[in-house]
Amino acid sequence: MKRPSLYFTEDHDLFRQSVRQFIEKEVIPHTEAWETARRIPLSVFGRMGELGFLGLPYAEAYGGSGADFWFSVVFLEELARCGMGGFVTAVSVHEYMAINHIAKAGSEALKQRYLVPAIAGQKVAALAISEPDTGSDVSSIRTTAVKDGDQYIVNGAKTFISNGTYGDFVTLTVKTRPDGGANGVSLIVVDLDSPGVTRTKLNKMGWHSSDTAEIRFDDVRVPVENLIGVENSGFYYLMESLQLERLVAAIMAVSGAEVALDWTLDYLNEREAFGKKIGKFQAIRHKIADVATEIEMAKQFVHHTCWLFTQGEVVVKECSMAKLYTSEMQKRVIDTCLQFFGGYGFMEDYPICRAYRDARAGTIAGGTSEIMREIIAKIVVDAVAYKPAYA
Ligand SMILES: Cc1cc2nc3c(=O)[nH]c(=O)nc-3n(C[C@H](O)[C@H](O)[C@H](O)COP(=O)(O)OP(=O)(O)OC[C@H]3O[C@@H](n4cnc5c(N)ncnc54)[C@H](O)[C@@H]3O)c2cc1C
Repeated sequence: MKRPSLYFTEDHDLFRQSVRQFIEKEVIPHTEAWETARRIPLSVFGRMGELGFLGLPYAEAYGGSGADFWFSVVFLEELARCGMGGFVTAVSVHEYMAINHIAKAGSEALKQRYLVPAIAGQKVAALAISEPDTGSDVSSIRTTAVKDGDQYIVNGAKTFISNGTYGDFVTLTVKTRPDGGANGVSLIVVDLDSPGVTRTKLNKMGWHSSDTAEIRFDDVRVPVENLIGVENSGFYYLMESLQLERLVAAIMAVSGAEVALDWTLDYLNEREAFGKKIGKFQAIRHKIADVATEIEMAKQFVHHTCWLFTQGEVVVKECSMAKLYTSEMQKRVIDTCLQFFGGYGFMEDYPICRAYRDARAGTIAGGTSEIMREIIAKIVVDAVAYKPAYA
């Protein structure tokens, strides 16, 4: 029986059913094909656009639903239940990490050119921060955008960029004042088919269905209108949106752990050893109890952080804690679950095997666990306070 919820209404529950149905019918059956192809077909973005899934938090004027944040929470939780970290990454980067900057600080023209087709699933978006020589230290990026009349000329390289190989455009972090440190970073939108852009697909350990690229920019000319918001304010836009990015990662990590537990519970009720179901062995039951407790505790904290977020609170501390805890938890939980599949857990035919590989990226992408600890320590130990960047 359904427990009462502080957060989810009947409408959210109905929406959950429709996303679950989509995932079961139109995503899970294609897992092997997409993982093998190392990409998801662009038509899937189109289909998700048609269903209204890609514009949940965005205004109706741009084709979005203007839905409250809990619809996004439901969507991300159900998305992560597909058990394919690559697919989940491709979609969540597009919707919650790349186009959100355009929606928040982009001009009307940028919204029409990029946000509208992205919400419709006709254009796929990437976010490029990391570079071959710098990832965690965002203010040290070296890709530059130098003004030349009504254009910027972009030079540099980005790496590990999700949706970078097949995507249509990128929200790109550049230095517009090379010696300005954090105060010299800007965000601009660049079409990935522009002359001077070279993309190389990277070969990864997991997240296979998401394409990940190294992208070079050699004298790429970009109209100055493609600047998002105010020049040299990009670092602060990024820092603020990283709250959402980390919350999104945490929501999906909890759900990814939960679905791994569900697969494991089914297996414990099927597999027999020494004349009984393996779910009857106390050594296993107690580990499962630990796993279920960890997941539930994490879920409650993440939901509470989502609620604070909906109240417009600055939740840098909670989002960093949520990302740190849930990504490490997901790794631990899936490791424990895999153990109970015995040899089958090591076989590619079993989703737990893919989940184990995919979970490994969680403590690295979107800010490493070490960086999460640094942020939390600054707030807890040094009493650093963060303010909203878009105010
Ligand atoms: C599958 C995948 C997809 C990704 N997708 C994207 C994407 O779409 N867009 C994008 O921009 N990036 C993306 N990334 C990049 C990711 O965000 C970076 O890998 C991450 O931020 C770490 O940067 P780095 O790899 O340069 O490591 P580095 O910053 O070089 O760090 C190396 C090690 O040093 C540690 N370290 C660094 N600084 C400190 C410190 N101050 N204190 C303690 N330890 C420290 C790190 O935690 C890490 O263990 C992706 C990465 C992966 C693996």
